[in-house]
Amino acid sequence: MDQALIDRLAAAPVAAGRLLIEGEWVEGAGESPVLSPIDGRQLTTLASAGPEDVARACASARAAFEDGRWSRLAPSARKAVLHRLADLIDKHAVELAVLGVRDNGTEISMALKAEPGSAAGTFRYYAEAIDKVYGEVAPTAPNVLGLIHREPVGVVGAIVPWNFPLMIGAWKIAPALAMGNSVVLKPAETASLSLLRLAALALEAGVPPGVFNVVTGPGRVTGEALALAPEVDVLVFTGSGATGRRLLQYSAQSNLKRCYLELGGKSPNVVFADAPDLSAAAKAAATAIFRNAGQVCVAGSRLLVEASVHDAFVAELATVTRKMAVGNPLRLETQVGAVNSLVQLEANLGFVADATREGGEIVTGGTRALQETGGYYMDPTIVTGVRPEHRLYREEVFGPVLAVAPFADEAEALRLANASDFGLAAGVWTNSLSRAHRMVRGIRAGVVHVNTYGGADVTVPLSGVKQSGNGADKSLHALEKYTDLKTAWIQL
Ligand code: ADP
Repeated sequence: MDQALIDRLAAAPVAAGRLLIEGEWVEGAGESPVLSPIDGRQLTTLASAGPEDVARACASARAAFEDGRWSRLAPSARKAVLHRLADLIDKHAVELAVLGVRDNGTEISMALKAEPGSAAGTFRYYAEAIDKVYGEVAPTAPNVLGLIHREPVGVVGAIVPWNFPLMIGAWKIAPALAMGNSVVLKPAETASLSLLRLAALALEAGVPPGVFNVVTGPGRVTGEALALAPEVDVLVFTGSGATGRRLLQYSAQSNLKRCYLELGGKSPNVVFADAPDLSAAAKAAATAIFRNAGQVCVAGSRLLVEASVHDAFVAELATVTRKMAVGNPLRLETQVGAVNSLVQLEANLGFVADATREGGEIVTGGTRALQETGGYYMDPTIVTGVRPEHRLYREEVFGPVLAVAPFADEAEALRLANASDFGLAAGVWTNSLSRAHRMVRGIRAGVVHVNTYGGADVTVPLSGVKQSGNGADKSLHALEKYTDLKTAWIQL
């Protein structure tokens, strides 16, 4: 990848963001500034959809669904459109990645792969699924026929966060569209730009007007209106537990829409003394928490290390961490980009202050970095001596802050790993096949990585347990969220 190309794209002015309703780009009830986390300056403005805008978007999605312009298209036709969209994402990959980094702050080297790269792959995966999902014939008595049809649910509302807008957006939009639904998307207010560009590409690819609408704006206004909308049949969400709870309340207050929530985690990364390569484990432990400045729902944010190697492992991890390049996320060499907003940066620093007050010890980091740039940066932070009763052990920071604790044996490792209200991801480092399988069985999480961390691709589900949520993103299992079963019971 060429830094000059990135610099050129990053210097281009960003057009004001509008809403996409019924295939038209329109103003919203209001407008708000978009600040760049890179330097704190205003990048552009974004339309804020009020309740009436959201109602129009939902009505458009409903009308499109009912008249069948997409929902009753032949599977091969829908498939061709989604393949075209994937190709357009690839064609505009660098532009999409740069635009996304400018408002969300993810380091570009990762954004290129994790954002357009992943989104294109996800659209292809679900495009291919369209003509491979069959109904069923029930094993009935010979005088009846029981057919089980899989039908689209109707209008899908999708509310997504700011850490990986294209990747997570695609995890929801692609399977929803593939199954014939209409979609109303609400991006995060601090990461809307790349998704608006994606929506433009969707129109270009041939997704009919009204089938894919985008409403930008604040969560408490635009998001709330979408979650309360009577036209929305299914609401899919990735974000914080606090918002997830609200969405369930909005559902109860409105039309009992089904809600699928992916709510983050406090994922344990467990290093045994018999790990095949402790140096590799230390490097992976650093990237597991510090890439994208810790703003990763599956981040390995609780590091549990067997006591016999704890001190040496932490020392090596600290050396690796201090060498990580923190800075402008648009530079290819940057390994830890910007924190998404000043609010988030202050919350991260608050966690560190509480951790030291509760008895944790800062090994490295703990402070704001590069303040002179005007941007929002934080030094990757390692805190040792963190115990299950500490706030840093229990709560998700969503920043570059790692909590470290020692364990004596496998039983204690498992107990500590599961001492959390969350259950999204985990890592286990060991040379013992039996121990690896015991830990995979024992840890309550949606994904357990063994001798690696992260990288689980679209072929496998991501589905939180406990307070990390419900329902799966990715894989064919995700299709269950976007379809209803219908039985035809026929007397022969
Ligand atoms: P994060 O910590 O990732 O910002 P949030 O839950 O605050 O998590 O945000 C995730 C998404 O939820 C964003 O698109 C945000 O605008 C939206 N959101 C926030 N509050 C609400 C709400 N009350 N109703 C609906 N959506 C909301």
